[in-house]
Amino acid sequence: MADLRFEAAYREYESRTPRSKELWERARVWSPLGVHSNYRYLEPYPFFVHRAQGVTLWDADGNDYLDFNMGFGSLQSGHAHPKLVEALTHQLENGSVYGYEWDRTPEAAERVCRRYGMAMVRFSTTGLEATHHAIRFARAYTKKRYVLKFEGSYHGSHDTLLVGVKPRLEVAGPAQHPNSAPASPGILPEVAERTVVAPFNDLAATERIAREHADDLAAVIAEPVPMNMGFILPEEGFFPGLRSLCDRLGALLIFDEVKTGAKYPHGGAGRVGVRPDLLTLGKSIACGVPMSAIAAGPGILDEVGPRKVAHAGTYNSNPMAIAACLASLDHILTDEGLERSARLNSRLAKGYGEVFDDAGVTAHVASDGVSGTVVFADHPVRNWRDFLTVDGDRSMLYYYLCLNRGLIPSGTGPDEQWTISVQHTDADVDRHLEILGTVAERLAGTPHSGEIEESV
Ligand code: PLP
Repeated sequence: MADLRFEAAYREYESRTPRSKELWERARVWSPLGVHSNYRYLEPYPFFVHRAQGVTLWDADGNDYLDFNMGFGSLQSGHAHPKLVEALTHQLENGSVYGYEWDRTPEAAERVCRRYGMAMVRFSTTGLEATHHAIRFARAYTKKRYVLKFEGSYHGSHDTLLVGVKPRLEVAGPAQHPNSAPASPGILPEVAERTVVAPFNDLAATERIAREHADDLAAVIAEPVPMNMGFILPEEGFFPGLRSLCDRLGALLIFDEVKTGAKYPHGGAGRVGVRPDLLTLGKSIACGVPMSAIAAGPGILDEVGPRKVAHAGTYNSNPMAIAACLASLDHILTDEGLERSARLNSRLAKGYGEVFDDAGVTAHVASDGVSGTVVFADHPVRNWRDFLTVDGDRSMLYYYLCLNRGLIPSGTGPDEQWTISVQHTDADVDRHLEILGTVAERLAGTPHSGEIEESV
């Protein structure tokens, strides 16, 4: 990143965040890179948060930020939503984990199943656990071994699905038949090779790849609206085609709705009009409290049980998470709440287009529901190979310039998107666009880096 604008942005960032730097110097002695999730690391060092309320986040130096990251999409509620605070405070006084089922958990299970059109559900704690178990359930049910996922997509940090995640071109293989490239050392090749990788939005290539393991394909897993390579809307017919392919091959279709599940009234499945066999939820399903779910159609979870198909966890369906889930369903993830956020989202996306047009910056804005993103390219992104052609350096410059002006415009990195929570207002959208206007002028003419750098 030789661009002088980066140097200036870093210097400004450093001058605003000396306390964060101090904290980071200490943190990195005890933890790799001083963070506890690789995605949280930021050059030259990450800022540390002191507190958050509504749509504002304060760092350790006292700077405030208008937050559109919203915990990487886990806060459809915004920060410290009063209804969540009330529910969690009440629950804490009544016990945070029982080691037995809570008497309100069946209500949460029923509501989740009804909302997503599923027959049964098991709750767990993180998105990682949900997709990990969904794969196990699919393999146990079908008695088959292979899994197909889409190139670029991220489904949590576990070995089976840390394959073909944001691969660099050197390891990615042919676009029409991507390699099963492990995304981390420590993943055994014999594990990675059971996960085959296909290009998103390309039904013909997906079918060819799936057919290579026709008799041994347990599942196809996808985000119905991919939100880990920017923001990609599936093309007409892609998911109906995938549904029919799975049916013909006897493979289960898993929708990873860890992000999308709470961004549409009936999740991404409702958005694309296709019913999966298994569906995973996380993030905003309990708005800021760790909770996830693996929901399934009739019969698929019948064999889950002791000495049969394994699923267990000390914190599964703990009452804090279930209380947060019920409060989220009652007060946050309502049709009205989501519609309001969607309306603000349309305004923001339209504003992005106008600001960049006015400034003469080549940019493509994608948005739908309550989220969206900008990529610095003259074309939309329809799969990972397209994403590799967008200008990642310019995305990061935009991000730092916004940070330095008190705006977190989206999740960190060009592969992320913004989330409009129920606490954002028209005034927040106005402020976002106003800051963007001052940033856009500085983005014109930034040299294109050629290839984007992204990793887990
Ligand atoms: N699936 C998707 C689509 C995600 O975006 C993520 C996280 O960002 C996960 C799974 C993993 O969830 P968690 O970080 O809670 O393990």
